[in-house]
Amino acid sequence: MNTQSFSAATKGELARIKEERPCCLLCELAGLAKAAGRVKNENNTARLEIRTENPAVARKAFQLVRAVFGKQAALFVRQQRRLRRSKLYRICVPGEFTQAALKLGLTDRFGHPVSGIRRAFLRRECCRRAYLRGLFLGRGWVSGTAFAYHLEFAAASKRSAEDVVALLGQFGLKARITARKNCFAVYLKKSGAIGDCLRLMGAAGPLLELENTRVFREVKNRINRLVNCETANLNKTVEAALQRKGEIGFISARIGLENLPEELRELARLRLAHPEASLKELGEMVRPPLSKSCVNHRLRRLSTIARQIQQEKN
Ligand SMILES: [Zn+2]
Repeated sequence: MNTQSFSAATKGELARIKEERPCCLLCELAGLAKAAGRVKNENNTARLEIRTENPAVARKAFQLVRAVFGKQAALFVRQQRRLRRSKLYRICVPGEFTQAALKLGLTDRFGHPVSGIRRAFLRRECCRRAYLRGLFLGRGWVSGTAFAYHLEFAAASKRSAEDVVALLGQFGLKARITARKNCFAVYLKKSGAIGDCLRLMGAAGPLLELENTRVFREVKNRINRLVNCETANLNKTVEAALQRKGEIGFISARIGLENLPEELRELARLRLAHPEASLKELGEMVRPPLSKSCVNHRLRRLSTIARQIQQEKN
């Protein structure tokens, strides 16, 4: 999966999360508007609109506006000429800009722009996650390729960027800021932190993907250190092992290995510890030893469990 589609898939998954608490609905929309909101003048009336190129995000913005304002948003779609095949969606919040902007924390009650994040949105943990998700949907980016881990939130002002850093800090994530041409980017570089960030925003699918990529790199490094081995053969073993190890890491993160059925638990731990071992070698490590086909069968069950957890989330 390339970077573009990984980022879009992540947003797609985040956009499908069904938030029900009114506090979080407001916070998610506030985050989204903070990142992707614009003032638009139409027929002498200033309106707030949210712009996105991602159809899933557009749908989400539309639903959030209805939930928060109790009214239907106007939706406009425009084919962009410069970027082939990409469409720009504009979700227009009903009513005047001043009311919408005040409600979403873009301005204070005197109508002055607020550059940071309104404290009230960050009081509860559920809301902090929702706000972060909104920000990411609006102007976030993630890359999960084996050679470049990167997750970022773009912020319009330095103050905003600092607030995002503080917000991530509350979840134990150390982010940094870099100045871009037209904005400030708050970014995470470590795969573990990126995985944590995706998880706290509620994405499980991309997390699985990221786990697999991370494991792939780990295993590849290990292979490079091995000498006198039949590379071709090893690659085959490794490729099959990879996905399994990523899935097991995912199970471990989501439900914990200790909650697996007993006959799968030990094998799961061994697979994590020895990603380069063949099925036969793995079987020999288990007490009492298992046949190759038995190991294969159990790994398949683990794989099924990982998929089930992922689907439950969706
Ligand atoms: Zn909440």
